[in-house]
Amino acid sequence: MTPLERAVRERIAAEGPITVEAFMHACNAYYYATRDPLGARGDFTTAPEISQMFGEMVGAALADVWKRAGAPADAIYAELGPGRGTLASDALRMMRSAGFAGEVHLVETSPVLRSKQKDALPDAHWHDSVDDLPARPLLLVANEFFDALPIRQHVGAIERRVTVAGGGLAFDRDGEIIETSPASELAVTAIATCLAARGGAAIIVDYGHERSAPGETLQAVRGHGFAPVLASPGEQDLTAHVDFEMIGNAAHAAGAAVTGVMAQGEWLIRLGIEARAQALMRGNPERADEVQAALKRLTGRQAMGQLFKVIAFHGPDWPPPAGFA
Ligand code: SAH
Repeated sequence: MTPLERAVRERIAAEGPITVEAFMHACNAYYYATRDPLGARGDFTTAPEISQMFGEMVGAALADVWKRAGAPADAIYAELGPGRGTLASDALRMMRSAGFAGEVHLVETSPVLRSKQKDALPDAHWHDSVDDLPARPLLLVANEFFDALPIRQHVGAIERRVTVAGGGLAFDRDGEIIETSPASELAVTAIATCLAARGGAAIIVDYGHERSAPGETLQAVRGHGFAPVLASPGEQDLTAHVDFEMIGNAAHAAGAAVTGVMAQGEWLIRLGIEARAQALMRGNPERADEVQAALKRLTGRQAMGQLFKVIAFHGPDWPPPAGFA
């Protein structure tokens, strides 16, 4: 039994069954606080860890929209759940060369990942919550952040819970499941409220669906594969597909302008990732196969290109970032 499973069982014994939301919150807080989950020896790999091209395209998009908004000097780079800091490093390299000299603000709760981020970005400022970001024009990105935030599950009108049954953890009911994520809505509302008041643009990348729909998407990821959701609490990443319709609606309700949802592959191609790949291959012929493979992984329909989606929101007085329909 994992240390967290022991704690969860004690909590259920004391309080009764706990909501899926409380379970997911406890599992991921423990999971991320105790390890760096990324990379070949970890549990999963993300777009910025596949290739520098991903962060470069994000940085190019943020630098471009910042310039078109008049290059305000008080704008800051902000990122939610920056992992190893790879995306920020690649994006900021592009943004610095475009003249952006603003501060770097990172929202990260894991002490292990904060310390990795400090190696990559020694001058950054760290925050525990989106609510703590300074009220300044934001150039914000979040990649694979929202899928890790807790979801609620309902079967009909009843909220689904985790209980102890037959000696192990079990869901207290089955049936057609509706998922919502109040934590995600709160985070989007905080960002969009700041964008509406101070300007800026936010780019959100994650796997998920363009339209809200019933169905269970909660999953556990471990060792680059799927695992049973209730197995090994705290030792595997719990994620859910992101509901981009909900994200767009929450941003709009808070006063931000919202773009359409794009597939990651098409968005990266519109931003010029193919030309960037050609340049990298010309500059490093010995790495051409690796660059080609990364391009395919990031943009291919059978790989990340279609499942992963991108949406942006921005201040009403700011132009939308490039690449959106
Ligand atoms: N964006 C990175 C890492 C994705 S993993 C990449 O693309 O490689 C999810 C990240 O979100 C980790 O950095 C994790 O520690 C952070 N995280 C998860 N839940 C969080 C929360 N509630 N608040 C702040 N950060 C969180």
